[in-house]
Amino acid sequence: MVDFDAIRAQFPILDQEIHGHPFVYLDSGATAQKPECVIDAESEFYRTINAGVHRGAHELAARSTEAFEHARAQVARLVNANAEEGGEEIVVTPGATGGLNELAIAIGNASLGRGGEAAKRFAVGPGDSIVVSKAEHHSVLLPFQELAARTGATLRWLDLTEDGRVRTDNVDEVIDETTKIVAVTHVSNVTGAITDVPTLVRRAHEVGALFILDACQSVPHIPVDVKALDVDFACWSAHKMYGPTGVGFLYGKRELLEALPPANFGGSMVELAWMDRPAQYMEPPARFEAGTQPVAQVVAAGVAAEWMMKIGVENIAEHERTLTHELLRIGDLDGFRILGPRDEKDRIGTVAFDVEGVHPHDVGQFVDAQGIAIRVGHHCAQPVHRHFGLYASNRVSCGVYNSVDDVQRLLDVLGGVREYFL
Ligand code: PLP
Repeated sequence: MVDFDAIRAQFPILDQEIHGHPFVYLDSGATAQKPECVIDAESEFYRTINAGVHRGAHELAARSTEAFEHARAQVARLVNANAEEGGEEIVVTPGATGGLNELAIAIGNASLGRGGEAAKRFAVGPGDSIVVSKAEHHSVLLPFQELAARTGATLRWLDLTEDGRVRTDNVDEVIDETTKIVAVTHVSNVTGAITDVPTLVRRAHEVGALFILDACQSVPHIPVDVKALDVDFACWSAHKMYGPTGVGFLYGKRELLEALPPANFGGSMVELAWMDRPAQYMEPPARFEAGTQPVAQVVAAGVAAEWMMKIGVENIAEHERTLTHELLRIGDLDGFRILGPRDEKDRIGTVAFDVEGVHPHDVGQFVDAQGIAIRVGHHCAQPVHRHFGLYASNRVSCGVYNSVDDVQRLLDVLGGVREYFL
């Protein structure tokens, strides 16, 4: 049995009052709060071993490199990627957005003929299609829309069911022999719906397309096994999985990382550089980690991964399923509409809703005045909102530190919203 009250006590930020009320944080979909061990790991790094990695000949550089690579291995374990030296499958990126852009640009470079024979498998061009879904965060939609525009490929998308899940019933029509890339979210940051990834991956591979997973909203909440899912690439951010801001991770099957040309160029990613000859780039992951890395943040993200595994990701998921069940009672309030599936087995505890007649910003301020933090707006996913005939919504999203009491307090406050404004 996991003691979730003891886990909550590890988050110093939660132990405060906001506007005279005990603080309830229900905005983990935007960024998760950090346990003491993560905060300490970052400051301890600066106090004791701060140095650049992979280059210096001095002792601190060696320790810092060891800590950095240990963190990479912990993150790999969290998603069941390969961590063995020489076979690493985790690349450090500046967040999920950074990773997704890097991937789209690298594929664009391959499409321009960069990366030689091996990179030809990534090339897209006129006559090819790139498939996303209407549920995508702008961080997936825009890099791949741009890739399509730059290469002459066509952007297609999987539509949504009425309750906001990615449709897979017509997958054979949307993903066909022209499809070279499928980039889809594992869990929507608006509807909380879990995508039927196995069906999409199966179809993508059937037609020889690459499958890229946006795992931003799944890695912090449910077990993610990149090998079992058989995705080719996956991106997510450390700050949503209780780690620091400024870093994320890109998983790639080793043979694909080895064939992919780089997107960013500079120090630490090149074996040989000349004035009059093309450079010879390093093997992955270094090839994709140009420049000085955010070592302290990566080390702390590794601690966050270890901390999650110690609790057990399945235990986290089960705890959050209970919270989700309670959160879905929002839909029973008069005038409230949930944007997403109503069954907790199809979703995580990220619940967006509309309040008839009340603007989301008013709802946000109303609950904030009671010490409860939620998010309002389009959550960087405008097409999903259009699907529901809206421009913006209210979103509550739970984390491992939330309790049924937190949800009850939210429900009590939400119960007064319409009476106050209408
Ligand atoms: N994808 C999803 C589903 C997200 O929720 C987010 C962040 O909100 C992102 C991508 C982008 O992550 P980041 O802003 O950390 O790069």
